[in-house]
Amino acid sequence: MIRIQQLKMHPGHSEKELEDRIEKMLHLRSGQIESYLIRKQSIDARKKPEIQYVYVIDVITRNVNETKCVERLRNSQISICQEKKYCFPTSGSTPLKERPVIIGTGPAGLFCGYLLAQKGYRPILLERGRDVDARTADVKQFWKTGTLDPESNVSFGEGGAGTFSDGKLNTLIKDKDGRGQYVLEIFVENGAQPEIKYEAKPHVGTDVLVDVVKNMRLKIEAWGSEVRFGCRADGFFIENAHIRGVKLSDGSILHTRLVVLACGHSARDTFSWLNQLDIQMEAKAFAVGLRVEHPQTLINISQYGSDYPEVLPPAPYKLTAQTKNGRGVYSFCMCPGGYVVNASSEENRLAVNGMSYSRRDAQNANSAIIVSVTPEDFGANGPLAGVEFQRKLEEKAYTIGNGNIPVQKYGDFSEKASKGKIPADFTPCIQGRWSFADVASILPKELKESFIEGMEKFGHIIPGFDDENALLSGIESRTSSPVRICRDETFQSNIRGLYPCGEGAGYAGGITSAAMDGIRIAEVIASEYAPYSLEENI
Ligand SMILES: Cc1cc2nc3c(=O)[nH]c(=O)nc-3n(C[C@H](O)[C@H](O)[C@H](O)COP(=O)(O)OP(=O)(O)OC[C@H]3O[C@@H](n4cnc5c(N)ncnc54)[C@H](O)[C@@H]3O)c2cc1C
Repeated sequence: MIRIQQLKMHPGHSEKELEDRIEKMLHLRSGQIESYLIRKQSIDARKKPEIQYVYVIDVITRNVNETKCVERLRNSQISICQEKKYCFPTSGSTPLKERPVIIGTGPAGLFCGYLLAQKGYRPILLERGRDVDARTADVKQFWKTGTLDPESNVSFGEGGAGTFSDGKLNTLIKDKDGRGQYVLEIFVENGAQPEIKYEAKPHVGTDVLVDVVKNMRLKIEAWGSEVRFGCRADGFFIENAHIRGVKLSDGSILHTRLVVLACGHSARDTFSWLNQLDIQMEAKAFAVGLRVEHPQTLINISQYGSDYPEVLPPAPYKLTAQTKNGRGVYSFCMCPGGYVVNASSEENRLAVNGMSYSRRDAQNANSAIIVSVTPEDFGANGPLAGVEFQRKLEEKAYTIGNGNIPVQKYGDFSEKASKGKIPADFTPCIQGRWSFADVASILPKELKESFIEGMEKFGHIIPGFDDENALLSGIESRTSSPVRICRDETFQSNIRGLYPCGEGAGYAGGITSAAMDGIRIAEVIASEYAPYSLEENI
């Protein structure tokens, strides 16, 4: 196979133009390309107004000596390459007496369950929330009426926090073992857009994610595993520092010797009983801030130039700054053409987040502008101090908005706002009830000052970012887990047989990294144990 790097094409090019270009670069005749695969596609807008798609392409040729072809070309962009495939380990031999239990069906639990189920381990997946269809109805009802179901919402239910998300699938985690690419392949096998396998910034959208999650669950069940909805893990049965069972919300005990704990970062009640059971955990740094909305066209013009071609997708951005007091301020979970959503999961507390549909066709761009906070900020008062800090901010947000998402113009938030780029009648794109309120009063003084400093700096990068009519809403408190549930080199906690996994345990920071961590735990379990045999365990 021949790999071409840095192949540049104009936006809106046809397949035929791309094929012609490959032929030309490789000096091939018509018919000598057997097939080609796009491995990566990104947009280069550094030399505006000239914008280009940049590709990495693998080509399989017909009746061509590829090595000789590459040698002859003497072009550093062209080389021979071998396809690397993700490889699941061969099964171990330790017999499994009881079925493994996975707590949570977010990306971490779902991917762990998918792989274990496919390989014959028959895991039982426990999910406190409802199946994705019922959950979608609950979430819509909440956004319409403000009546929250604490067990079925944007954080809890089938698919976890990833379901009602933007569905951005890029991750900063290195992918030397191919797990990240494998996650994308599984997404595509279950209904996601095939392009995500090569786009530099893969995006699925909540409307597609809902189906993907359901398709994965149906396969898990078809492979002989079980998914129990409305079934919360409320404790563990532990003997001699070994897991022996899970206490369920209906009062029963599910006996098992292997538990994957993938409860996500919003399962505060779960963190609380884990702490009481002396499962090793520690407070960790995270970040809090506010969602900021701008017209998507303002972002497009800044990123692509004023005469950008219509075929380009709504532009994203990524911003970081260091404040005078040494804090990091940065954009997080940027949603082009997206919505701010009410993502609360506790009564009388309010948290926001961002999402989009596959078309990303909402009028506004939003992102969270967040400021890092460390255990020193929220007091070193045990592993759950960060949770209490989040809760206080969420209570303030709930109170000042009277239960609605509080929204404020940046000009009313800060005297330092710039003028002239966003019209005064600019309105938010929000899923959930909202009202204007004093958002500035939610953030502690130092965080508010850092936020303003960051906004000012970002205004120099994207003109109008700090405009008086940009809209803020809050609070964005759940950017990552406030705790780490410790695991050793065997991936187990101080309680043997317990595998902390995913974002809630502090080992992931998004959909893809959580899914990758789920796969990694599936690998660890499969390498040691033999698949579960129904016959032997009757
Ligand atoms: C609105 C929104 C938009 C987002 N957008 C993106 C994005 O575009 N890209 C991205 O990479 N990330 C995004 N994220 C973050 C991403 O969703 C999370 O990083 C990811 O879902 C974490 O996966 P997880 O499996 O570790 O945990 P979660 O997805 O949180 O899943 C945990 C699951 O465990 C269940 N659970 C909890 N406690 C128990 C219990 N005791 N018993 C049984 N079940 C339990 C919960 O109900 C939940 O379903 C977004 C998050 C939100 C809320």
